[in-house]
Amino acid sequence: MTNTPPLPADGSSTLRPSPSVVARATDVVRVFGSGDTAVRAVAGITASFRRGEMTAIVGPSGSGKSTMMHLLAGLDTPSSGTIELDGQLIARLSDDHLAALRHERMGFVFQSFNLLPGLTALENIRLPESLGARQRSRDDVWERELIARLDIGRVLHRRPHELSGGQQQRIAIARALAHRPAVVFADEPTGNLDLATGDVVLRLLSELVVDSGCGVILVTHDPRAASRADRVLALRDGRVVAELGRANATDISALMLADAHDHSDASLRTP
Ligand code: ADP
Ligand code: MG
Repeated sequence: MTNTPPLPADGSSTLRPSPSVVARATDVVRVFGSGDTAVRAVAGITASFRRGEMTAIVGPSGSGKSTMMHLLAGLDTPSSGTIELDGQLIARLSDDHLAALRHERMGFVFQSFNLLPGLTALENIRLPESLGARQRSRDDVWERELIARLDIGRVLHRRPHELSGGQQQRIAIARALAHRPAVVFADEPTGNLDLATGDVVLRLLSELVVDSGCGVILVTHDPRAASRADRVLALRDGRVVAELGRANATDISALMLADAHDHSDASLRTP
């Protein structure tokens, strides 16, 4: 933190006021349907996500977590408000540019792993880079480091069905990070894993975030998973009702329970 270089004083063309911000939502609203049946899935959220930081978005089912993640990843469009990703306002991008931004600057880790069954583990890891508009030369050193640290060297030539859930998710993490994205979206990444395996996967993800310098947005309803994050945003009814720094699972659980019984924002907000 203390070594962060000063911002250029000339306010040059970039949208980013800070080079450390990888994603930003400003006054974002997403309404599904219209009239009496309209649902405000996201009801006015402003939040920034930084490089080298894992942010957990927690909240009960239906609180707007997945909708928010889809909006941040450019997979859905806000009814109002703006989303910036890696310094670009995504509303201004053509579909092709947005697809390129997604392939080159974002990584995804899903609950269900989402590896392609016909490809080996290594082919899955290399898939995002082959989809990018610009064929970037592979970063072999980084790829080797990921494989070593995720301990997947011995399973690279196997197909997903030959791997355990924990192995599949470690392959998915390598896939998400190999092309050096600016931001990784992880949607309930431990949802299909036992507790111990889930802990290992999240510890690896949080360590790799720091070392690769990307930002991670972790969507989860699991307080234990959220306790691995540097920051926790609690959602309810499409709004941020509390924000915590690094917290243990007990405190996050208490926050989520308090949140379920008490709608008064002020009592939950920590400085
Ligand atoms: P979470 O991920 O926290 O469980 P979601 O973002 O999936 O919450 O959903 C938030 C609210 O928006 C819920 O009431 C859900 O029913 C509604 N919703 C989500 N997606 C759609 C959709 N495509 N059409 C209509 N309503 C939706
Ligand atoms: Mg969801």
